[in-house]
Amino acid sequence: TIAAPPPETLSPAMRQYRAAKDAHPDALLFFRMGDFYELFYEDAVVASRELQLTLTARDKARSVPMCGVPYHSAGTYLQRLLRLGFRVAICEQMEDPKQAKGVVRREVTRVMTPGTALDATLAASESQWLASLATIGSGTNVCIGVASMDLSTGDFRATEFTGAQAWPMALDELSRMNPAEVLSARGLAVDAAQASFEAERREEGSAGTTLIAGSKSELEEWVFHDEYAIPLLQQQLRVHSLDGMGLGNHAAAATAAGAIVHYLRATKQGALEHLDTIRYYEQRDCLELDAVSVRNLELVEPLFSSEGPQTTLFYTLDACMTPMGKRLLRAQLLRPMQSLDAIQARLDAVGLAAADIRRREEVRRSLDGVLDMERLLGRVALDSAGPRDLVALGATLARLPGVRVAAADLGDNGNRWAALTAALDPLSDLYEMITRTLVDEPPVALFDGNYIRIGVDAELDELRGLSTSGRERIAAIEERERERTGISSLKVRFNSVFGYYLEVTKANAKAVPADYERKQTLVNAERFTTPELKELETKILTAQERSTEIERRIFGELRRQVLESAHRIREAARHVAEIDLLGCFAHVAALRGWAKPEVNHSGILELVNARHPVIERRMEETGSGRFVPNSLHLCSSDDAGKDPSLLLITGPNMGGKSTYLRTAALLTILAHCGSFVPAESMKLGLADRVFTRIGASDNVARGRSTFMVEMTETAAILNTATSRSLVLLDEMGRGTATYDGLSLAWAAVEHLHDRIGARTLFATHYHELTLLADRLHHLRNVRVTVRESSGGIVFLHTVEAGAANKSYGIEVARLAGLPPAVVQRAREVLKLHEKAESQQVRDALPTKDAAPQMQMTMFTPLSQRIVDRIELTDIDNLTPREALTLLAELQSEL
Ligand code: ADP
Repeated sequence: TIAAPPPETLSPAMRQYRAAKDAHPDALLFFRMGDFYELFYEDAVVASRELQLTLTARDKARSVPMCGVPYHSAGTYLQRLLRLGFRVAICEQMEDPKQAKGVVRREVTRVMTPGTALDATLAASESQWLASLATIGSGTNVCIGVASMDLSTGDFRATEFTGAQAWPMALDELSRMNPAEVLSARGLAVDAAQASFEAERREEGSAGTTLIAGSKSELEEWVFHDEYAIPLLQQQLRVHSLDGMGLGNHAAAATAAGAIVHYLRATKQGALEHLDTIRYYEQRDCLELDAVSVRNLELVEPLFSSEGPQTTLFYTLDACMTPMGKRLLRAQLLRPMQSLDAIQARLDAVGLAAADIRRREEVRRSLDGVLDMERLLGRVALDSAGPRDLVALGATLARLPGVRVAAADLGDNGNRWAALTAALDPLSDLYEMITRTLVDEPPVALFDGNYIRIGVDAELDELRGLSTSGRERIAAIEERERERTGISSLKVRFNSVFGYYLEVTKANAKAVPADYERKQTLVNAERFTTPELKELETKILTAQERSTEIERRIFGELRRQVLESAHRIREAARHVAEIDLLGCFAHVAALRGWAKPEVNHSGILELVNARHPVIERRMEETGSGRFVPNSLHLCSSDDAGKDPSLLLITGPNMGGKSTYLRTAALLTILAHCGSFVPAESMKLGLADRVFTRIGASDNVARGRSTFMVEMTETAAILNTATSRSLVLLDEMGRGTATYDGLSLAWAAVEHLHDRIGARTLFATHYHELTLLADRLHHLRNVRVTVRESSGGIVFLHTVEAGAANKSYGIEVARLAGLPPAVVQRAREVLKLHEKAESQQVRDALPTKDAAPQMQMTMFTPLSQRIVDRIELTDIDNLTPREALTLLAELQSEL
């Protein structure tokens, strides 16, 4: 660290700097000096390193390191620092340096943090979350509140977790939100909890190496005290009780939310009028997807960031017309619906629009040009909106009646379209107010003026008249003076320092009349003024000053009125989003020929000719063949009769096992979102959760840590899945030695089959498991098929009943170019293994009454080696001596 010099040796400005820095020790201080923001001491060292700025010094002795960025280009530097996780305090000059007596007064006007500084590069479909974590109680009695807020839209929500699984669930929720910043109390063991959690789950090489990516901000413990935080929240939301928002009995959630309000105020994030409501939600309101599944199934983010967004379900599905629709789609995929009524209502609405191209297109067209109402409102609330933002809001409101008409056209007898039509407030009053007040194409900035319409304010109109007539009179003066002086190049000009002046060239300067007063001398010209010009100038400038003032006042009023309607605007945005989403689902369903899933409360999952939506679309786009549809029939075993609850899928690598699993999961999620699905038909008894344990095969080589990850994920499934869950396990047990892996996979299959009864797809390369079909009544073997041709094997990607033949691995190796002798030898060895093994596994299978057990001696490598040797010996060509030697060798191995 750089030692701070004693205060008395500091200049007044540096003393100001010290005070500001002391008040914000954890932020980089951007200290405004004229046209630059300067950083000093440690801050300068850090910023020069991170932003690649030249480090200079403020003083001769070079004891005060300094660097700076120009004021007008500070934005990009700020974004870079924020993205790196720094906080930045902006210390502004609070008065005009020209008018200041002594040192200019300065104040920290805002602290920018990763979760609060609006990122201009943020995609319309994304949200920038500031999250907060509060705990009440501890140990197994802990209740953890998680609140999150998107300052750009005012979206504010909270939830809560209790019980033994509270921490993993809370961290899981945070990881799903993917916040830019997380607030917690100093000393709260979030990091410890997260560290152990992450260590267990880290998947090297995948897009998110840390679960909670955002930067962490620790606040004083008292901020997270319910007696402080809850009243603060109530005050912000202007309510006396949080009951109406569903937070009445959720102190931890409310406290977490209150801490966010505290933080926004402490960092001076502006007026915040748009933060007037919060929503309490619970996991069980939706189809639960743990963070691992969200990542594995690539719902919204690609697994490998290098691949771009095309591999995600969101990308494939997104045909939304508005930013609100896109954000809803993304949120929906992460939290699919659980209520049968809601799902059914949406499916019906989608079906109606899918079948009616004219009305559907009507709806989608009506949404064209609807801008981001929520973000525009956010900017108004954060005081960063200019006249153009309000005009944009107005233009969007202008379209709402059209949206309503289009939606109403699909409305029928209480369906979702009708409900949305009824609920959508066209906000005509607001629209009228905006268009009545603002001109159609206003300038960007407030100080430019001329954005208020003529006719809004009589005084303003009069003042404008004055300045226009003033300008006309000045033009007339130019004309007249040219004639009077005979100087044809004489000009009347204006600049902000000298005001209006008459300009003549040096050569003509002698010809000016006596009543001209010299104002300024330039190299080639002289500038003059006259009493008449001065008088006019004062008139024009005061009229202008006054009219700017009036325009600002009117704009301020308009802004206040818009904010008073913030709640209505947000509600309208919500309904527009849903209309957009229905239109998107209908569009995709119609365009791609998707089917309406039949949903109910049974335990069934039936797919007829289903396709993987993302792969199918990519194959079409790249022209790389056609996706092979597959079917599936499963039923949770408490509802099953003779139906299978567990499918064991075998077959060669690259055969399509993992795709088959993912297809089942994606279609289940789509149906829960109320979307049609890429299949000929689908029957779905609603699921409570989707679990996936899908190993990225390139992780296998990484050994133990990967195995630990896999077992942790598997443990979570076996501990929490219910008979209503959908469970996908792919290549379980690969991360360890064959026998360990096989026994674990074996035991897991039994547990899922006997105890849980969940609809389960289990893809495995442990061929031995297929023998379980003899004993487990709800287990069926299926295999991905391949065809042998003269050139080797062809993957057909169809799934059919039966267990796979084991030797395809060798065929694949042959295709990969392994020497023929090695392939031949491998075939022989395999044959021997298969024979011995299947007998041994059969022997090891527990009889009906016996407790299940596995004898790990059954694959004893030693006996296998002996069997191999004997079988491969060509006895006809063996001399007696060789036979004896062989016998001796075998004996010596025992
Ligand atoms: P496995 O899990 O058996 O190793 P994958 O499911 O990863 O196999 O599929 C291997 C390749 O085959 C992938 O590139 C995938 O796109 C393609 N594929 C899988 N299923 C199908 C299908 N039904 N139709 C067309 N291509 C498929």
